[in-house]
Amino acid sequence: MSHRRALKFTKTACPICGSREVARDDHKGDMLCTNCGHIIVREETKSVGKFEIAQALKREGKMDFEKLKQATQASDASLYNVVQNMENMGLLQNLMGNYSLTKKGQRWYRQRLGQEWGY
Ligand SMILES: [Zn+2]
Repeated sequence: MSHRRALKFTKTACPICGSREVARDDHKGDMLCTNCGHIIVREETKSVGKFEIAQALKREGKMDFEKLKQATQASDASLYNVVQNMENMGLLQNLMGNYSLTKKGQRWYRQRLGQEWGY
């Protein structure tokens, strides 16, 4: 009864439900959350920067992954990577599926804004 699957579990968490049971499909390269069924599609679309995300969060206060995606027009994979990165840097936090800037994130955003505008 060996049932071979092409799915391998990854170290990433699902952006929708936070489950760690995210598997990668080796054939397509997509990632699938086996908990809620969300598919993180790996596609080459517009990538998103930390600054854009911080800007959207600064404006809205709190946003869930879908809202953030709409605001930044980013693909799942690129947005997810940057969001993970920012979370690791302590710039944002995820509370019950809603992302918001931390104090450090707000300082970081103001600094970056200063650089953009040259003050
Ligand atoms: Zn999920």
